[in-house]
Amino acid sequence: MLNYTIKDLLNKGKEAVLQEVCVQGWVRSFRSNRFIALNDGSTIRNIQLVVDFENFDAEILDKINTAASLKAIGEVIESQGSGQEIEIQVQKIEILGESNPDELQSTILQPKAHSLEKLREQAHHRFRTNTFGAIMRVRNSLMFAIHKYFNENGFVYVNTPIITGSDAEGAGEMFTVTNFDLEKDLPKNEEGNVDFSEDFFGRHTNLTVSGQLEAEVAAMGLGKVYTFGPTFRAENSNTTRHLAEFWMIEPEMAFYNLDMNMDLAEDMLKYVIAYAIENCPDDLKFLSDRFDKEQTQKPQNERSELLLMERLEYVLHNNFVRLTYTEAIEILQNSKHNQKKKFKYPIEGWGMDLQSEHERYLVEKHFKSPVILFDYPAKIKAFYMRLNDDGKTVRAMDVLFPGIGEIIGGSQREERLDVLDEKMDQLGVSKENLWWYRDLRKFGTVPHSGFGLGLERLVLFVCGMGNIRDVIPFPRTPKSAEF
Ligand code: ATP
Ligand code: MN
Repeated sequence: MLNYTIKDLLNKGKEAVLQEVCVQGWVRSFRSNRFIALNDGSTIRNIQLVVDFENFDAEILDKINTAASLKAIGEVIESQGSGQEIEIQVQKIEILGESNPDELQSTILQPKAHSLEKLREQAHHRFRTNTFGAIMRVRNSLMFAIHKYFNENGFVYVNTPIITGSDAEGAGEMFTVTNFDLEKDLPKNEEGNVDFSEDFFGRHTNLTVSGQLEAEVAAMGLGKVYTFGPTFRAENSNTTRHLAEFWMIEPEMAFYNLDMNMDLAEDMLKYVIAYAIENCPDDLKFLSDRFDKEQTQKPQNERSELLLMERLEYVLHNNFVRLTYTEAIEILQNSKHNQKKKFKYPIEGWGMDLQSEHERYLVEKHFKSPVILFDYPAKIKAFYMRLNDDGKTVRAMDVLFPGIGEIIGGSQREERLDVLDEKMDQLGVSKENLWWYRDLRKFGTVPHSGFGLGLERLVLFVCGMGNIRDVIPFPRTPKSAEF
């Protein structure tokens, strides 16, 4: 007898006919007291089990309810029905875990359409739904492809710390990590502030908002490195694109200028999307049907012009449009959209920070293509970005995607100590605290670049989902940390 995952068995197809097999899984449905649809999470597809109820105890049949788990042994036969190629003529069923039909009613395990909100409220059940199961398998595929891509291209995977003392990265609001007993009075220093020198690490520490600075350290010895880990931002913005805990991929490369950085970002995105298309055909078919149907229910002006698969193919086969921030501002300023005052944040001119609506206008309406914006005003970007000769822009880049806005943010780093120091002084970034970061510029400094890709934003795009809470198992957002 052969043990199979449902995926492997269905992939064998007719080759498996006449084999005696064992499968295990959860009941999706049981109809006519005869047909069980069984799923084990290996694929979105179910295997059909055919039960001759005459041969089974009523006691067992009674327990074959939706969501119950079971082990079935039987013979693979060609299916009589049209929905599937093969099915299993069951000889033996062992119920592994029962499911209470009364309690089932209020769960998302009940086989009918449920809202994504309801799925989130029952995050412990949603791995068993078609939608979330598909998203998780695609997410897995993307993560694997990311590692594969970097591995094949000579990058060293390094782990940067999750607890850090560098509080000057300016990437976002931070969560403090402390071992103080918060029920008691906290030790205070002479100025009356909390005295963190008495805390666990002897200093103020926080959860990392980015592994970049440490990745730069590694790149200055290993050449090409990347990090891939959890990242935390205490941003009190309840948007569909922000999480308080998300996963970020941050490559950092010695001897790379900004053009090479852009090339790498574009090449990597294309590679991992192509990998997911190739390796998750069933899941992406399901998700694209879902996306395409959802579009037809939206008002015309909010609809995506392309179907999900068309959108993914478009990304693979077209060069991303590259233009400077300055050019982008001109386009936005002269756009009908701006002149008709349709932006919530009107374009005030050069120097302003772009909002998501502006980024999406460029991508979705103007260019109808992924866009890489570069050379941003120094004033709206972080201290470590390399200053251009014009003295007012920096070698920053943002990759903008349809439906998402910013998916990648990166830059060429400032490798000149004097320029870096001046910038740190201007922005009040502590040189004392980042002595080690400055040291990199004292001993064999080199031009180098890197970027940060938010995994969940990539999964959102590939799966055609609209809310970032639906592409991570247990989302962490303001006022929400259930499970
Ligand atoms: P945004 O402007 O969208 O808030 P950011 O400019 O603060 O993003 P970066 O600091 O450049 O983001 O981070 C690099 C990447 O990490 C972003 O391009 C995005 O893909 C992802 N990212 C940033 N913040 C979040 C978040 N709160 N939740 C999920 N992903 C995020
Ligand atoms: Mn950014």
